[in-house]
Amino acid sequence: MKTTSDIRRDFLEFFRSKGHTIVPSAPLVPANDPTLLFTNSGMVQFKNVFLGSEKPGYVRAADVQRCLRAGGKHNDLDQVGYTARHHTFFEMLGNWSFGDYFKEEAIAWAWELLTQVWGLDPHRLLVTIYHTDDESFDIWHKKIGLPADRIIRIGDNKGAPFASDNFWQMADTGPCGPCTEIFYDHGAHIAGGPPGSPDEDGDRYIEIWNNVFMQFDRQPDGTLVPLPAPCVDTGMGLERLAAVLQGVHGNYDIDLFQHLIRKAAEFTGTADLQNKSLRVIADHIRACAFLIVDGVLPSNEGRGYVLRRIIRRALRHGWMLGQKGPFFSRMVAPLVEVMGEAYPELAAKQEFVEKALLAEEERFAETLDSGMRIFDEVADKARAAGGAQPVIAGADAFRLYDTYGFPVDLTADIARERGLSVDMDGFEAAMEQQRETARAAGKFGNATTMPAELAAQLSPTQFLGYDKLTDGGLEVVA
Ligand code: ATP
Ligand code: MG
Ligand code: MG
Ligand code: MG
Repeated sequence: MKTTSDIRRDFLEFFRSKGHTIVPSAPLVPANDPTLLFTNSGMVQFKNVFLGSEKPGYVRAADVQRCLRAGGKHNDLDQVGYTARHHTFFEMLGNWSFGDYFKEEAIAWAWELLTQVWGLDPHRLLVTIYHTDDESFDIWHKKIGLPADRIIRIGDNKGAPFASDNFWQMADTGPCGPCTEIFYDHGAHIAGGPPGSPDEDGDRYIEIWNNVFMQFDRQPDGTLVPLPAPCVDTGMGLERLAAVLQGVHGNYDIDLFQHLIRKAAEFTGTADLQNKSLRVIADHIRACAFLIVDGVLPSNEGRGYVLRRIIRRALRHGWMLGQKGPFFSRMVAPLVEVMGEAYPELAAKQEFVEKALLAEEERFAETLDSGMRIFDEVADKARAAGGAQPVIAGADAFRLYDTYGFPVDLTADIARERGLSVDMDGFEAAMEQQRETARAAGKFGNATTMPAELAAQLSPTQFLGYDKLTDGGLEVVA
């Protein structure tokens, strides 16, 4: 069986053999872009290369990039535990051409790697293309031999060309182009339709690899001018591919996650390894540990608050499993066992990460239990107020936030599990009211709540782009 480690190595070896320079993963906190919350794909560290302001010493590159989609434009936090394929933290295998090869080589190599090196059954693969991209259609159909009915054209279903899943664009202007995505059919026993169909959100057909072809420079007036040297930017989810190669359906069933899940079960005294909370804990320890490795500490704003929210969600899942003592910080050691070799920076900071997590565990332990009791009360109140869809009042969500340290997305998550929702506008209003009161009184927020000596060991990250809290996530305001 191919382990996750084997797959990382195979991927890099394959692209090395095709003349690619292997580059290291960039940190989760983007170095070159203060408006981006987290590195959410492999191309982030190459943004300036695509924009032409940076020239690396190579025209072909490949890497394994750690990514986080837990805030900002890409937020998969609410998918975790609900789909077979989404994580907050995941690893993206990527290969790039900077003005060198284009569609033909990219598609042919993707196919060669999947079907020859890894031996995937071609009959289980299907692809999407951008509806006008006949060039990609011809490559898939004529050169690769994929039947036309397994090449799905995806149009501008959401109004604007750049809103299509198959047209990628860095910003409103600049480099952009069509993409082709490769899907794996896990079989008719799993619910869900092919991409582009009404039930495409099921988990039968799982998207494994996105190949983006940057070939235009979008002008302010919307016109597309061909780029003199088109580029390729690809991303494949390591965990999704591992599931396929290990003959399992869900990402959480792969070797790496099974190790974490077994440990989470041990530390929380849980017998049922299928328990959803174990999956959430296994997901969240990766996000939290790597955020801390990359310089983020729990705090009440910006990136630090995203970290705090993820930690507290994990702790609440431990609580649901009956674990009232520290368990989350203990997950760092098993994480190092499965990822420390690929990420020596994780192994090197193990003790620091454990300490930071333990401090946050102890802190939240003081209010979690009583907060959960309050939650039950306000949930009863919401139900008693009647209606088919009971709503937790904004003021109650605010009390949970302010007095018990429940980030509003945590409250919303618990509510969702119990068929309730939260009045987010009401929460915002209560929050705004408190800000006004604080301003009037000349008080300042307590931004960082880490013990000072821990905080001093890491330089704080700066983040400039987001400052508004909406529907459980942080949204772009710029
Ligand atoms: P999906 O439609 O399944 O949410 P996506 O279209 O948002 O995926 P891309 O932005 O195209 O994903 O990212 C490239 C690849 O990264 C995907 O094809 C997938 O294999 C992987 N990937 C994306 N999001 C996640 C996630 N949250 N967890 C694990 N892998 C992911
Ligand atoms: Mg997605
Ligand atoms: Mg997709
Ligand atoms: Mg995609």
